[in-house]
Amino acid sequence: MRAAIFRGLRAIEVGERPDPVIREPTDAIVRVVLACVCGSDLWYYRGESPHAAGSIGHEFIGVVEQAGTDVATVSPGDLVVAPFIYSDMTCPHCQHGSTISCKRGGSFGDGTIDGGQGQAVRVPLAGSTLVRVPGGNHSDQTLRSLLTLSDVMATGHHAAISAGVGPGDVVAVVGDGAVGLSAVLAARRLGAERVIALSRHPDRQAVAKAFGATDIVAAPGDEATEARHGTDRRDWR
Ligand SMILES: [Zn+2]
Repeated sequence: MRAAIFRGLRAIEVGERPDPVIREPTDAIVRVVLACVCGSDLWYYRGESPHAAGSIGHEFIGVVEQAGTDVATVSPGDLVVAPFIYSDMTCPHCQHGSTISCKRGGSFGDGTIDGGQGQAVRVPLAGSTLVRVPGGNHSDQTLRSLLTLSDVMATGHHAAISAGVGPGDVVAVVGDGAVGLSAVLAARRLGAERVIALSRHPDRQAVAKAFGATDIVAAPGDEATEARHGTDRRDWR
């Protein structure tokens, strides 16, 4: 199959990888429908963090082509969202909600495990990893939205949850990249009343507003704090 191959510093190219096959009864083979590039892929590309040569890409949605005999939750033909890691959901870490630390888990596209930036992926622990999407005949727009659940929207949501965002809160989101913008959306979903997006890019400011930001602060660093104090303070808590 064709797949993006990480060769090293500033070298990612399309190449050939073996067609994935079921190796364990808990595996599934997923044909990739949509995939995207994560900011962390750029860290590897720029040499800012290490990455083994080989497969790359950990954000994808796809259709199950084959499921191992122990995979009960998804079947061939199902549209599925893959999180950026696979996990068993039974070890102590998974039981406490930290699936990224799963004792049996791992990351897609780590150089050896198939990556999302390829035609197909062997998904280990598929029954506890893949999330089946209900319904069918989804529009391209819906498919693109579903793709964000593989990492970026989940990461923005995680940030909002970790910050304890709840109804009526005032929230500042520092950073206007894809995760920051997703955090704006997540904060509004969780009921935040006022969401201040720190952004100096007009195009991203527009997305932030579309996602529910009530205020835009374009000043950097300490100036942003001053800008905050300069706004109407009646609503601040
Ligand atoms: Zn686990």
